Amino acid sequence: MGRLCCRNCSQAFSLDHPIWRCSCGGLLDIEFTAKFPLNQLKRRKPTIWRYREAIPIENSKNIVSLGEGVTPLLTVNLYGKKVLIKQDHLMPSGSFKDRGASVLISKVKELSIKKVVIDSSGNAASAVAAYCAHAGVDCHVFVPEKTSREKLAQIASYGANLIRVKGTREDAAEAALEMAQKTYYASHYWNPFFFQGTKTLAYEICEQLGWHSPDSVVLPVGNGTLILGAYLGFNDLYKSKITNRQPKIIGVQAANCAPIYHAFKEGLTELPQIISRPTMADGVAVANPPRIGQILDAIRNTRGTILAVSEKNIVLALRELAAQGFFVEPTSALTMAGLKEYAKISSQHETIVSIFTGHGLKAATKILEVMKQPAEANKI
Ligand SMILES: *Cc1c(COP(=O)(O)O)cnc(C)c1O
Ligand SMILES: [Zn+2]
Repeated sequence: MGRLCCRNCSQAFSLDHPIWRCSCGGLLDIEFTAKFPLNQLKRRKPTIWRYREAIPIENSKNIVSLGEGVTPLLTVNLYGKKVLIKQDHLMPSGSFKDRGASVLISKVKELSIKKVVIDSSGNAASAVAAYCAHAGVDCHVFVPEKTSREKLAQIASYGANLIRVKGTREDAAEAALEMAQKTYYASHYWNPFFFQGTKTLAYEICEQLGWHSPDSVVLPVGNGTLILGAYLGFNDLYKSKITNRQPKIIGVQAANCAPIYHAFKEGLTELPQIISRPTMADGVAVANPPRIGQILDAIRNTRGTILAVSEKNIVLALRELAAQGFFVEPTSALTMAGLKEYAKISSQHETIVSIFTGHGLKAATKILEVMKQPAEANKI
């Protein structure tokens, strides 16, 4: 019903092969034809699994679900423009990562795997730990030591084996890779099944717009699981002739850690040498995303662009959002700061969709800290 395909050497594997990268070391993608029985969809439950025929899980008894998906698409007046915001901070574990985790851990169950390892800045690990708990899978999590205490509490509560790694996000990834020599790597950015979940964001947006594609989507980018999932999903609908175009993809990075932004501006196809500094937007603090080439393709192929946001503007957006009753993670505030910039250069009648990727409660301590300071003092 589909196959795993290496982006590097084009070797193909069956979907039952328990691998997360090719024997040549290359990244894997999934080749699979998504189907959409639109007439039946209306009667189905509001979770990502309403798109069952578009998700490459063989047997429905293996589905691991916590009721994720079909988040509200709220019309918000932001910066003098009407924009639509997907409320993915309302997911079961508090971030959009539940889309990917539900599909990935369903595949883990399908493969009868009992133990997995993952590294993340916090939210992917929280999501994978939640679905592993639900499925009874032993979960080992590597996070950078600076991960927010709220996310650490969440991961530990789900019963995952939590390992805090001294150093950066990259150091946590390296430690996880070491363990992944012998354990199934449930990595949200290496493992291609994760993207088969994040793509449902695009399906939901189009369904909520009456099966129309928006003109542009403004999305944060770190490892690209959201942006690549969205690209895949919009493409599936376009290929199935359900929508008649694909939206422009507008990526948002933190100026302090912006490898994709620099590569895009300089017309590169690979990872540029950048100096990365800490950012409040920990969800996108990724200095060397393995799928950078794919991410650049998605942005270029849709005639999109990429923006970089300062720490000052992240805090400003946090304040502005909270003042309107939206309590989201700093990484989501970054996205709104990017949206503000994009609103200035977009055309008058564009339908723009963006997303709240993570709940504010995941970083409540940090948010309170920066909000307590006088507005001018907010620089890092
Ligand atoms: C993971 C995450 C992102 C970035 O997603 P990528 O898949 O790494 O590009 C953005 N916001 C939040 C809250 C996240 O957890
Ligand atoms: Zn290969």
